[in-house]
Amino acid sequence: MILYTLCGNGYIDIKELKSLKDVHVYVNLTNRCPCSCTFCLRQTKEMTESNTLWLKKEPTVEEVIQEFQKYDLDDFSEVVFCGFGEPMERVEDIVQIAGVLKLYRQDIPIRINTNGLGNLIHNEDITPLLRGRIDTVSISLNAPDAQEYYDLTRSRFGIESYQAMLDFALKCKDYVPHVVMSVVDIIGEEKIKRCQEICDRLGVTLRVRPFEE
Ligand code: SF4
Repeated sequence: MILYTLCGNGYIDIKELKSLKDVHVYVNLTNRCPCSCTFCLRQTKEMTESNTLWLKKEPTVEEVIQEFQKYDLDDFSEVVFCGFGEPMERVEDIVQIAGVLKLYRQDIPIRINTNGLGNLIHNEDITPLLRGRIDTVSISLNAPDAQEYYDLTRSRFGIESYQAMLDFALKCKDYVPHVVMSVVDIIGEEKIKRCQEICDRLGVTLRVRPFEE
């Protein structure tokens, strides 16, 4: 399943929908990720082919564009790069796809949901690539300190991942209009307050998401 949307607690291929009006369309590009988060659906859901966000093969840029060509872009309220993996693994492909979408509809809002480790994955600053293509980057902040973040994400880049993720958020501000960091409400008020202070220092928006089993 390449293009999907959220439906209750699950996912649905957008081709199953009767109307696409105001739908947030999610693009499932990869199952690769440098993290192994304790809460990740990749850990908690069965890794079977029946789970349709598991890709047998990553779609090419051309295949993703062909999927979009089946629909009227004006119907969509947003396109979000987010799947069972870290989309920034394929940042160059994202930028290419986003460029084509913006050619057909300049004002289509495009977001990437990311763990914020793109610069570590690629070993260079990838944020300039996002300029003019991506409207929102939403980064999982997860925790108010490096140790707790590492315990949760088990990033293969180690404990330095936390600072790299914060640096990434700051750099994104130069190229992306909306930079958001997110936490889930179950971390509790005290930690949310500390996360808010971090976001205030960085000058980005904090979004507190309700925890879903
Ligand atoms: S960063 Fe996202 S995709 Fe990667 S392990 Fe964590 S929750 Fe899963």
